[in-house]
Amino acid sequence: MGPGPSDVNPRVLAAMARPTIGHLDPEFITMMDEVKAMLKAVLKTNNELTMPVSAPGSAGMEACFVNLVEPGDKVIVCQNGVFGGRMRENVERFGGIAIMVEDEWGTAIDLAKVEAAFAANPDAKILAFVHAETSTGVRSDAQALCKIAQANNALSIVDAVTSMGGIELDVDGWGIDALYSGTQKCLSCPPGISPVTFSAKAVEVVKARKSKVPSWFLDTNLVMGYWGGSGKRAYHHTAPVNALYALHESLVMLLEEGLENAWARHNLHHQALKAGLEAMGLELLVDEADRLPQLNSVKIPEGVDDAALRSALLDNYSLEIGAGLGALAGKVWRIGLMGAGCTRRNVMLCLDALENTMRAQGVQVNAGAADAAAKVYQG
Ligand SMILES: *Cc1c(COP(=O)(O)O)cnc(C)c1O
Repeated sequence: MGPGPSDVNPRVLAAMARPTIGHLDPEFITMMDEVKAMLKAVLKTNNELTMPVSAPGSAGMEACFVNLVEPGDKVIVCQNGVFGGRMRENVERFGGIAIMVEDEWGTAIDLAKVEAAFAANPDAKILAFVHAETSTGVRSDAQALCKIAQANNALSIVDAVTSMGGIELDVDGWGIDALYSGTQKCLSCPPGISPVTFSAKAVEVVKARKSKVPSWFLDTNLVMGYWGGSGKRAYHHTAPVNALYALHESLVMLLEEGLENAWARHNLHHQALKAGLEAMGLELLVDEADRLPQLNSVKIPEGVDDAALRSALLDNYSLEIGAGLGALAGKVWRIGLMGAGCTRRNVMLCLDALENTMRAQGVQVNAGAADAAAKVYQG
C-alpha cells in the first residue's frame, strides 16, 4: 500500500511466465495490436500514436519532452510536487526554456496562475503538468488545464502515471496532446513499461521539427516503424516480450471490470479508509475536493516515531506504506490504494495495523476505525 509498485494480480504474474516468443513473431504482432487497442480504450483516445514505451514512466516522460521540445521553445511547467520538478529538468536538458508555475505541495495547480503565465508568455509552445501528484496525493483539473493550453494555441503534456486506471482520464475528450503513464501504479503491473499517446497535432509538431530528435531510442518517428500502423513491423529494439504479456493481461482485466467500475472501486475504498483514519483521530493532508483516492497522504500525529512505525508495519503485517517526500518527509504517510491493491481487505488490514502499532508506541488513538470503515461498505 505504498506509492507503487502496487500489488500485481496472480493472473498478470502468470501471463508474464508464458514462454518468450520472438518480438516479430506473428502471434506477438497480433498481441501488440491488442495492447494498442486496449491502451486506446483505457485512455479514451483514437490517437494512432499510442504505444507502450519499453522503459518505466520516467522514459515516457522523456519521450514526450524529447520529441516535442526544441531548443529555444518556451514550456510552462506546473510544479506542485516532485514530478513537476522533473518536467523542468527535461525541458532544460533539451534546450527549452521552462516557465515555472509553482503551487504549494499538497495543493492543486492554480488555474489563474497558469492563465497569468500564458498572458506573460503568449509565445509559450507547451503546457506541462502532472494530473495525479503521487508525492502529495493531489489531483489537478486536467480538463481545465488542457482548455487553457488550447485557448493559448499551446500543446499539453500530461503526466498520467498515477491517474491512469484509478480516476477519470479522457485524452480525446479533454484534448490532451501528449501523455505518458506507467504500469506499476493503478494498472497493477510490474514496473518497466510506459504507455504514451500523442495527438495528431502533436505528431505534426514532431514531424515539422527543425532539428533531429536528440534521442535515438525515444524518437517516435523511428519507434513507430515497430509499433505503428498495421502493416509491416521492422526491428527497432527488442521489445520486452514478457513484460508486454503482463501489460496485455492487466489491460484485459481492467476492461473486464470496466473503467468506470474501476474508478468507482478506487473511490469506495478511499472513502472507507478515510472514515477509518478520521475515526482514529488522524487527518488527511489534502483538501477533500483535490484528493486522489489512490494516494492518501495522512498527517503523522505527535509522538509517533515514523520510521519505527513503518518498519513495524512491514515486519509484523507485511504491509508497506510510503514515507513523505521532500518538504513532507517525516510529516505524512502516503497510503496507496492502487489497482489490485485497492481492496476492502487491505483497507481493514491497514487500519488495524496502524491502530495497534501507534498504541504500541504509547500514542493515544481513538477506537472505532474498523466500524467507521465498515459503515462505508454497508452504504
Ligand atoms: C511513479 C511516477 C513517475 C515515474 O515513473 P517510474 O516508472 O518510476 O519511472 C512519474 N510521475 C508520477 C506522477 C509518478 O507517480
